[in-house]
Amino acid sequence: MTAKLLTVEEALAKVLEQITPLGSERVDLLNVLGRIIREDITATMDVPLTANSAMDGYAVKAKDLEKAATDNAVRLKVIEDLPAGYLAKSRVETGQAIRIMTGATIPEGADAVVMVEVTKKSDSDFVEVFESVKVGQHIRLRGEDLQTGDLLIKAGTKLGAAEIGVLASVQRPFVKVARRPIVAILSTGDELVEIEEPVSAGKVVNSNSYSLAALVSASGGVPIVQPIARDNEEEIRSAIQASLAADFVVSSGGVSVGDYDYVKPVLDSLGADLKFWRVSMKPGKPIAFGLLAGKPYFGLPGNTVSSMLSFLLFVKPALRKAMSCLPPWTMPIIDVTLDSNASSKGDRRTYLRANLRYQDGRFYARLAPRQGSGVSSSMLGANALVILEEGVTALKQGNQAKALIINDIF
Ligand code: AMP
Ligand code: MG
Repeated sequence: MTAKLLTVEEALAKVLEQITPLGSERVDLLNVLGRIIREDITATMDVPLTANSAMDGYAVKAKDLEKAATDNAVRLKVIEDLPAGYLAKSRVETGQAIRIMTGATIPEGADAVVMVEVTKKSDSDFVEVFESVKVGQHIRLRGEDLQTGDLLIKAGTKLGAAEIGVLASVQRPFVKVARRPIVAILSTGDELVEIEEPVSAGKVVNSNSYSLAALVSASGGVPIVQPIARDNEEEIRSAIQASLAADFVVSSGGVSVGDYDYVKPVLDSLGADLKFWRVSMKPGKPIAFGLLAGKPYFGLPGNTVSSMLSFLLFVKPALRKAMSCLPPWTMPIIDVTLDSNASSKGDRRTYLRANLRYQDGRFYARLAPRQGSGVSSSMLGANALVILEEGVTALKQGNQAKALIINDIF
């Protein structure tokens, strides 16, 4: 009688419990895209620094234009021309205007801007205005965008173009970001050949090292790919030991209960503190997790799909926690309508590869036609996993289902 398998949530909780934050580093702003910031960013100045014009037009006193209308032009004397980046030399007095460009600081005495579109230059020194304005119209106030003391970016935020732009606005050429976790990737199997080697009957090209390395990079880590370890205790032991220089170790293959599955016995012999080695899910039931010499060790199954899915479900959230990303560390689950029938044996929660299509406010999930755990092609274009809970054996086209988003949906 085997013990009840852990659910995905229970297993993930056991993983996350063991993950502590890695260190930080200072990186220049042109190289922080996608990194996780490790400090709160507060505005140290007002942006904009001064009230300025939101339009090309004329800085005026609103009171002067009270009666201005299409059939009642008001004439103002233009006393200066003010491009962006300069300050006016004179003050706007009653009956006067300063020609002003977008972004230029509002001159003293002016309390509104009229757009150039409602004016006509009558002769060189005068402008005719055909519309009244309200006080403050077309003026961007000091600090309207960012105000000194505002919390702009919270520690744990992933830096994108907008955050990088705001960091530049508040003059932060360097920021403290989480160090990228270094992840050793170790493929095991006598049947594996390297990408450049000839492949003969019975052999399989090692593709997991490549897909897992890509997943590590996409999750913000740095992959270190180890040579293939053959299915014997000595090779697996020395490969695992060599991997411990990294922050995380991810192996693929050799974690089932086959006669040549040596990962678990080797981990045991090395004194690993294994937290679990099976999870109630399909694909990916054999998956080992524990601490080895203080480092998180993930023994993923060898099947191409299983290794990617178990990475997404367990390793990616762990990397996110290690980088101090703001929670949630897991990917979002959304409601979808099935575009195809879905089935499962019902004995374990099943994750089916699907491509999401968005139409009329809803997501539709089209399942890959073949869902075997070794069918790599089912992962091509898969941006979601449709979830069939334990006990559910079939869902029909048109039914609602839950789906985990695993990739960009556009
Ligand atoms: P295992 O988990 O070692 O029993 O492997 C399960 C299946 O995954 C076998 O058919 C292996 O040939 C395949 N497999 C294992 N490792 C890899 C790999 N690195 N690349 C591609 N397929 C693999
Ligand atoms: Mg194997």
